[in-house]
Amino acid sequence: HAKRAFMEQVCFYDSEIGTNMRDQRHLAEALKLALQNDDLELHYQVQKSLSQNLEILGFEALLRWQHPKLGPISPEIFIPVAEENGLIFSLGEWVLRSACVDAVTWDPHLKIAVNVSAVQLMDPNLPHLVHTVLVETGLSPNRLELELTETALMKDRMQSLHIMRQIRSLGVGIALDDFGTGYSSLEILHAFSFDKIKIDKSFVHDIEDDRKSLAIVRAVLALGKSLDIPVLAEGIETHNQVSILRAEGCDEGQGFLLGRPSSLKELIWQDNLKSNPPINESKLA
Ligand code: C2E
Ligand code: MG
Ligand code: MG
Ligand code: MG
Repeated sequence: HAKRAFMEQVCFYDSEIGTNMRDQRHLAEALKLALQNDDLELHYQVQKSLSQNLEILGFEALLRWQHPKLGPISPEIFIPVAEENGLIFSLGEWVLRSACVDAVTWDPHLKIAVNVSAVQLMDPNLPHLVHTVLVETGLSPNRLELELTETALMKDRMQSLHIMRQIRSLGVGIALDDFGTGYSSLEILHAFSFDKIKIDKSFVHDIEDDRKSLAIVRAVLALGKSLDIPVLAEGIETHNQVSILRAEGCDEGQGFLLGRPSSLKELIWQDNLKSNPPINESKLA
């Protein structure tokens, strides 16, 4: 019910605010203030091993913004606004630094995944920024993974390739996010090197009753195997999806069933940030 209400809200913003230039400008201004006033927060969603008995591997940082009047606004709405007016650079830097500051306090085997937008990827200074933040925070590079989408990489292939190589040479991993939703998924896999493939949640969602979705998931898993890239399934919501994905040999999973995005406080409270607690399958939901 809460989810439906949330979706309705998102759709409302999408049609009302998204198309209205004045509101667009209002959002941009409000977002700038939010960044200055520290009204933004990172939530973290757990990523678990499907093969290794649901061991916690790390967390994905997801940006949250509580607008003083409008309430929570989805990143699907405000990230494009930030990309449009250039605020994404300072916003992205804030996200990267905050995520590393938080992650360095966790058990050292836990990784942190940070989303990077298409516009950030066009910034030739990005590798230097990543390096600086790692040095400043003391986070070991192999604990950081940047999530990029196909669409972001295709904006300027040469530039993306160049920036991505520099980032990987720091020892930072690159995950291909929302795999299968772009226009040139296979070409992307061919041209770039990834440390992880994240199957988009739309395929996982339908895996139980749509043969086509299952076939696509199988094909991605086979690709991952033969390219030697671990595959993570996004948007896992049911036990049945876990069983199917496991049977198909999917390495890792993320989704509401395994854990909702939570504040750092909640995670500390749940005691999820220490060295591997033995995971009890019956505690799954
Ligand atoms: P994403 O990177 O693909 O993140 C996964 C999205 O799926 C998140 O939405 C997450 O809350 C949602 N999700 C997780 N598990 C489930 C599930 O089981 N079912 C369903 N239906 N959804 C699930 P969220 O937090 O609203 O973020 C949406 C998108 O906004 C992200 O997609 C990412 O592209 C972007 N985003 C979020 N935070 C940042 C950020 O810090 N920087 C940038 N550049 N983009 C961000
Ligand atoms: Mg992501
Ligand atoms: Mg995704
Ligand atoms: Mg997405």
